[in-house]
Amino acid sequence: VQLMSIDLHVHTKRSDGVASPIEMIYFARKKHLDGIAITDHDNPLTEDELELIQEHAYDFIVIPGVEVSAREGHILLLGVFEAPEKGTPIKDVIKFGRKKDAVIIIPHPFDILRKGIGKTIKKIDYDAIEIYNPGSILPIFNNRARSYAIKNNKIPVAGSDAHLPEAIGLAYTIIATTSNKLKSIYDSIRKGRVYPIINNSSFLNTISLKIRRKILRLFK
Ligand SMILES: [Zn+2]
Ligand SMILES: [Zn+2]
Repeated sequence: VQLMSIDLHVHTKRSDGVASPIEMIYFARKKHLDGIAITDHDNPLTEDELELIQEHAYDFIVIPGVEVSAREGHILLLGVFEAPEKGTPIKDVIKFGRKKDAVIIIPHPFDILRKGIGKTIKKIDYDAIEIYNPGSILPIFNNRARSYAIKNNKIPVAGSDAHLPEAIGLAYTIIATTSNKLKSIYDSIRKGRVYPIINNSSFLNTISLKIRRKILRLFK
């Protein structure tokens, strides 16, 4: 068994991030991560894109994914190259995800400022909950996610939701796997062989990243 540190929630300039996938991987390596999931909003990687990225990334793990803007809020699908269109009812997104054998994660479920799905979480089928998101402004959003996961015996994971390179790794997940193949990583997440890590130094950190992101957007 090996332990892999993987940031399961990363954006690039393929959606509203500022850096390319290769640049994000460069920063992730500097932070000693073993892999990232690229989860751009409503824009999954194609198989060709992944192949090209993987050529540059060597042994670094790149999980293809997408953050779907479902009607009820955001939902992460890992291990897919396609996604239902924006605004699709979440039940249909989940049906799609199951058909494609995706790992289904509910990001920032109780963050009303980041399009969390809120109470809908009680009515749907998924694999894991993101119990910490460094971009959540109010601690109560993350606290609710964590206590919901504990109370309902759900698998807890974490990701940075990085839109800037410096935010990569502020939260990530340690995954125990028997191989570094993607299938085995997906399997470990589903079986709960995971441990979420929170690396965010402070609330000020979250705020300054938010401001920096706003400023960079002005120049985009
Ligand atoms: Zn989101
Ligand atoms: Zn996100």
